[in-house]
Amino acid sequence: MLEIKNLHVQLKEEDKQILKGVDLTVEPGKVHAIMGPNGSGKSTLSYVLAGREGYEVTEGSATLNGVSLLDMEPEARAAAGLFLAFQYPVEIPGVGNMTFLRTAVNAQRKARGEDEMSATDFLKLVRERAKALKIDADMLKRPVNVGFSGGEKKRNEILQMAMLEPKMCILDETDSGLDVDAMKLVADGVNALRDEGRGFLVITHYQRLLDHIKPDVVHIMAAGRIIKTGGPELALEVETNGYADILNEVA
Ligand code: ADP
Ligand code: MG
Ligand code: MG
Repeated sequence: MLEIKNLHVQLKEEDKQILKGVDLTVEPGKVHAIMGPNGSGKSTLSYVLAGREGYEVTEGSATLNGVSLLDMEPEARAAAGLFLAFQYPVEIPGVGNMTFLRTAVNAQRKARGEDEMSATDFLKLVRERAKALKIDADMLKRPVNVGFSGGEKKRNEILQMAMLEPKMCILDETDSGLDVDAMKLVADGVNALRDEGRGFLVITHYQRLLDHIKPDVVHIMAAGRIIKTGGPELALEVETNGYADILNEVA
């Protein structure tokens, strides 16, 4: 599904190499987690996959179901089934949350050659999915993320994901800043979307989230590379011992 090979990325503005040869394959139906110290390049990896400006790929490739992502506009990547839940969700004053969701859903359907969803069907679906995430009707009417609490913003990211039903979901520290109950809601939202045809890349600092979203594979990223890959036990090891042992072992 998602296949990243030898990905090297540097900043456009300054001559700074951030990703130094990332290799990663996420199979359909699998949940891969990436953990790693601050500044190791986890967010950069997710931004580059989603098509954010400011980064230059100097070597390597990233494909989604065999199609190269790196040459595509961000919206084409979304239409191809890629979704990124941001570490820092953006506020969009003046754009109602519901309008935003409906526009996104229909733009994606259009890009895939499908008919628009009827207003009635959309309303029914968005209410149902919002309810599961404890997002109330008022939050659906307000401008996207404006005045939302940290936890509400993160839940709103999951609502977007649930509405768009992507093939490949990337969550960048969606658990950071969440209390235990909100984290459980986010995890439930993700688990509800787990499906044989869908892959997940869950970036997190903490084992906590992985108690609820059970990953199939755990990767440790440091200094722009994946330095170790294992099963869920790897996340437990990090929780107990920190990254020092793994960094030493690799060095
Ligand atoms: P992580 O998500 O693992 O904490 P990031 O991908 O956010 O790491 O950052 C990786 C490194 O790249 C850090 O040293 C960060 O300061 C640097 N970096 C990322 N984006 C920029 C930028 N736009 N300008 C300057 N430095 C950046
Ligand atoms: Mg960070
Ligand atoms: Mg980050």
